[in-house]
Parts: sequence; structure tokens; C-alpha cells
Amino acid sequence: MKLYYRVFFCLFPVQFFLSGQAAAFSDTTATAAPTRAVQKLAGAIAFHTVSSATPGETNAAAFIALHRYLQKSFPALHDRLQRKVINRYSLLYTWPGKNQALKPILLSAHLDVVPVEEATKDQWEHQPFAGAVEDGYIWGRGTMDDKYRVVAILEAVEQLVREGYQPERTLYLAFGHDEETGGEFGAGEIGAFLQAQGVQLEAVFDEGLAVADNIVPGVTEPVAFVGTAAKGNLNLQLTVKGEGGHSSVPKRDSPIYILSVAISRLHDHPFAPHMTPTTIETLELLSAKMGGRYRFAMRHYGLLKGRVLKMLAKDRATDALIRTQMAPTILAAGEKDNVMPRLATAVVNVRILSGENRETVLAHVREAIADERVEVEVSGLYIPPSPVTSTDTWTYKALSQTIRQTFPEVTLVAPALFPGSTDAKHYSHLTSNIYRFAPQVVDRQSAKLVHNVNERLSVEVFGRCIVFYDNLIRNTCGTAAKELVIQHQKQAAPVAAGVK
Ligand SMILES: [Zn+2]
Repeated sequence: MKLYYRVFFCLFPVQFFLSGQAAAFSDTTATAAPTRAVQKLAGAIAFHTVSSATPGETNAAAFIALHRYLQKSFPALHDRLQRKVINRYSLLYTWPGKNQALKPILLSAHLDVVPVEEATKDQWEHQPFAGAVEDGYIWGRGTMDDKYRVVAILEAVEQLVREGYQPERTLYLAFGHDEETGGEFGAGEIGAFLQAQGVQLEAVFDEGLAVADNIVPGVTEPVAFVGTAAKGNLNLQLTVKGEGGHSSVPKRDSPIYILSVAISRLHDHPFAPHMTPTTIETLELLSAKMGGRYRFAMRHYGLLKGRVLKMLAKDRATDALIRTQMAPTILAAGEKDNVMPRLATAVVNVRILSGENRETVLAHVREAIADERVEVEVSGLYIPPSPVTSTDTWTYKALSQTIRQTFPEVTLVAPALFPGSTDAKHYSHLTSNIYRFAPQVVDRQSAKLVHNVNERLSVEVFGRCIVFYDNLIRNTCGTAAKELVIQHQKQAAPVAAGVK
């Protein structure tokens, strides 16, 4: 997950708890992670599996060493499950189910981590790749994003194999090696491999939102947010060409000037706000827990739409939920102080809300700039907004039940828009049930640690992560799943009959 997705909170700050850190609960039922599992995670942190934007630069030795380490650390799992290395550095495990007629479940996590900035190296209390365990925390790069999930998933399966558990439904564990740089060569290849095998999935569970503790105003109990939709992503390159020449006799409309005006116009012409069905559902569920003002606004949403949108637009966190966002991120022009540059370029990063696409974004940007001297082109990969995952499915119920079993203090599970992008997008052709949820409890302080200095995970929360995946596998691949499917069919039946 990218750093800049997590840096906000406010009224409905769902982005804030992407993959954050645990709040310390005084809950006596809390399960501390067994020492051996903590050691396994600490050991995994030591591998410098830093993803590189240049494919040829992958730190091959670190990834291969991590693969071997996992083989050694989870022997029962490696005996029982099939393991396939995809594109040299990614891993796909298959645990065949007893009933091959059932569509498989896929748990997705990633092996790569973001780099540690040189300038911050001496600000770490424990070396970022040391894997220190101290003061009830596991320290280091990857403890919150995303090695803790890799190890928690493997540990849950290792224990299930040891107790002789057999899934009814096939389970895939998919660990990509380049999520932080788009996931194209890791999860992208895994997705392509599964498709070539003719696999269709029942559901995918990936990282994403989490349990929010004391973040939503007026809601004191922890609330779990499940990312059921994600924004799209697109980079636009703006280019202005000029004649160059000496700066002593400048042309008034130089490339730098024209480009600056264009960027300024984008600033003044944001996309129009609109509520997606996902955000309406989030707010409806949340407002029931919030104060009267919010409840009233959502109950009369039809009438107060304009005011609700205005309220949400006031803060950048909630504004991101109701609008396609543009942000200039790279600017380049000029090399010498007395030479007029012949070229000025800018990259504008666009996060696309559902309802919008590449063409509508381009049209809006060209119209806002309204200057033919500015060329606007798509640069790099276009990721469209994700389809919306329905909450009216047995797999959503299974996830919801898993969250409540693992985090009994959670009083509400709500779907929400995830403003970032994860490996999940590479499996969207295999299922319509994609859930972005990280089994963590996040508060305002701890959320800041993702991709940051002193990234760390409490041993207590790590214990819960393992329990979460144990519950999730039983609820989706075991006999508990059968009951959920039947229950769901019963509930759906009268509706279906009514429709006829
Ligand atoms: Zn991540």
C-alpha cells in the first residue's frame, strides 16, 4: 500500500486505517501470538525484499532466501500443500479441497516491502531489518505491511494441517513480490496463471481497510471497515513545447508559463462530487452509531444531498470518497538560468472514482485546461475503478462473522470505499467477490506508522491476525461455510420468489 493513502482522517476517515497498528485493548480474551510465530515473523523481517520499480533490479537473493526461510519455518504446510514459484519471486500455494465442485478461495498478501529512506535511518529505535522483538512489539519494515499477513496466514494453515484439518473447498495462498510497485509481475502473473488453468474463484481476501478504534467522531466502539470497492489510478503527462532562445528576450508565453497556467486551471476545476453506492452504504450504517445530526442527515439524504456532499468535501479524507482527485506529482523544465526551455512537462496523478473512466478523465482535464498548446496524454498503466463487491453474499457474511469472532469488541462491520490500490486488482477477472480488509485494530497514532519510521506490530495483534485467518479459513473452506451458504440461500429465496 502506498504511503500517501493513509495520511488523513476526519469525519468519516476510512482511509486512515489502511493497515495500521493495534490499539492496546484491555480485553482479557485477547490472544497473544505464540512465541514461535513471533520468532517466525521477526525472522522474515530480516530479508531485504525491497521492491524495485525497475523489474531487472529485483533483489533476487533476498526473495529466494525468504522463500527458503518460509519452507523451513512451515514444514507441515510445505508437506501438505502444493507450492509453485511464479515469475521467479512470487509464491502460489494450493491446498486442494475435498469437493472439487466448489470454487476456491484465495488469500492474497505480498512479500515485498517499501525501502527505508536513507535520511531516516538513525531515527529507528530498532534497525528496520533486524527483526527485533521488544516491549511487546515486533519491530521493522514489513511488520505492518505486509509480511505480518504472509506469516499469519502461513502459521494459521500450518496449525490447521497439523491438527489434520481438511478444507472442503480449495484454498490458494498467493504472495506477490511487487505489490508496492503495482503488482503487475507478481500478483498479475499469478492471476494470469490461474486464468490459464481455467480457475474461477469464490472470493479473494486481500489487505485494505481495518478495524478503526476511536477514529470516527461520535463512535466510541471499534468499527470494522471492509473495502468493497477501490478507486482507479491513472497518470497524465502534460507537455508544452516552445522555441527556446535567450532569456534576455523572452517570449511571453513560454512553456513553463503555459504549463503553470494549465496546472492552476486543474486546481480550480475539480471533478464534480458524487456519492457512490458504497459510500452511501457506509454512511448509512455509520450514522446509526453516530450523533443525531449525522443520523438525521443520512435519513433525509435525498433532501440534504447537497449539504451532505458539502460537509464531506470540507476534509480531504472524505473529499477523496466523493470525487475523482487530481494531483500534480512531477514537474520538469529548464536546465540553465539564462536559457528558455524548449520543453516543460508535468505528471498529474488521478485517482478515479467509480462512474468515471480514462476517457471521461481525459475529457475533463482537456476541458479544464482549455489550451491546445498543452498536450495531454495517458502515461503508463491505467487501472480502472474496481467493480463494487456485493455485501449480499455468503462470503461477506463469512468475513463479517470472522471479524466478529476475532474482534469481539467490534460492534459494526461496514463496507467502504478503499482509496488505494492493492494486489486484489489482479484477481478481478476471477471473481466479483473481492474483500480488502487487514486484520488489525488501528487508532489515530498507530496508523501513522505504515511505510514509516519505527513500523511495528504488537505481539497481541499479531496473535489475533493468526486467529483471524484460522477463523476465516474455517468459515469459508470448512463445514461452517456450508451452513452460511444454506442460510444465505434461504434468506435470498423469498426475495427471488417475489421478483418473479
Ligand atoms: Zn501492502
